[in-house]
Amino acid sequence: MTRQIIFAIVLLITLGVFAWTANRIFNFFKLTRPAFPVRDFGKRFLVMLEVAFGQTTIMRKPFTGFLHALVFWGFCVILVGSVEMVIDGLAGTERALQVLGVVYTVISASGDVFAFIIALAILFFLFRRLFVHTKRFEGIEMKKVSHIDAAVALTMIFLLMVSLLGMNASYIVLKIGQGEEVAGYYPVAIRMVVLFAGMNEHSVHIWHEIFWWSHIGLIFIFANMLPYSKHFHVFMSVPNVFLSRLEPLGKLANMESITREVKLMMNPDTAFQAAPEGSAPERFGVKDAEDVTWKNYLDSLACTECGRCTEVCPANITGKKLSPRKIIMDLRARMKQKGPGMVKNGRSYDDGMSLLRTYISEEELWACTTCNACARECPININHPSLIVDMRRYLVMEEGSAPGELKAVFSNIENNGAPWQYSPEDRLLWAKDLEINVQ
Ligand code: SF4
Ligand code: SF4
Repeated sequence: MTRQIIFAIVLLITLGVFAWTANRIFNFFKLTRPAFPVRDFGKRFLVMLEVAFGQTTIMRKPFTGFLHALVFWGFCVILVGSVEMVIDGLAGTERALQVLGVVYTVISASGDVFAFIIALAILFFLFRRLFVHTKRFEGIEMKKVSHIDAAVALTMIFLLMVSLLGMNASYIVLKIGQGEEVAGYYPVAIRMVVLFAGMNEHSVHIWHEIFWWSHIGLIFIFANMLPYSKHFHVFMSVPNVFLSRLEPLGKLANMESITREVKLMMNPDTAFQAAPEGSAPERFGVKDAEDVTWKNYLDSLACTECGRCTEVCPANITGKKLSPRKIIMDLRARMKQKGPGMVKNGRSYDDGMSLLRTYISEEELWACTTCNACARECPININHPSLIVDMRRYLVMEEGSAPGELKAVFSNIENNGAPWQYSPEDRLLWAKDLEINVQ
């Protein structure tokens, strides 16, 4: 009973801290603007199955992609075992899901094998992080803290797998020693029982307790560390893929506020109607954290910092300052910085900084060709160009700021109805000497 009480207290503390963090993030979401309406659930479900659970985009890099997919699938299976541990911890049972019979045999065996595979994959990822020069893990946005964060999370996952295998192996030895039936099947752990050779039952029991508590303890610590780490994608990537933009990549969203203005102009009857009560004049485009949509912010939380977007960005490849990964990471950092102030003082809170310029320069924004290669390559369907374009929209519509060449184009469109510097009347002059009737 004491064990159950201690476990319940630890679980309550874990859930309490997690709820506090979740509430903090939820409050940040409340500061954002609406994005697209979420419908087409069937289509979204299929995208989630293909991209998130099928790991199709990530496997464009076959070797590391497949390793990552194994880690992901392994986590899904091992999650069942973690739920079982919580049930056992609260109810004082042992391997409570063994009531599932043959299903339990499959789950326990695959969890055991996946734990071994994940441990090996994580060793590879750690080795690559620490000793191999991988270009996509570099860049001005990849500060030392990003690398430390990745290494700490990978080490924790490795320890999680080792403790799981140790727990399974000591459980087998314990049950065999007690002359009882082993619930489930553990193809890897059974080969580790030699580690406990010569130990008496009490020592094996202590080792089992150590592995059990360290495994569940690591899960609880890891779950509370994730929201402050790039490994938050463990939680956020599946919802982010489910909530993907379903429109073709190149399609730019209309601006609600502009659509409203245009409709107003087209319908003179409504031109003098009072604005709806409480409606504050809206900023065009994105200048700071409060101007982004909930989807932009969700993207930033889900980003794994893998660098696949930056790796294919033509602007980045040709030496421009732009890195699409940095744009997404900057938004996450800015919301973390300004969010608490806005929650406390309202959306109009000003700390003298902004996402635009303090974090992201105009030079970066105008370097984007809107080719969408980044969005296509992102394994969790993050859409970078939508944020970049919205920041440009702010620059143009609120500040009239754009590169000289674009300003000429804008004024040509305004004056001539076309991007060229010719009067509309001269549009067909090119054909005047041709023997065709242009009248
Ligand atoms: S935006 Fe996507 S591709 Fe780019 S670093 Fe983040 S997860 Fe990777
Ligand atoms: S859309 Fe912009 S940021 Fe993305 S790959 Fe193309 S140039 Fe780079």
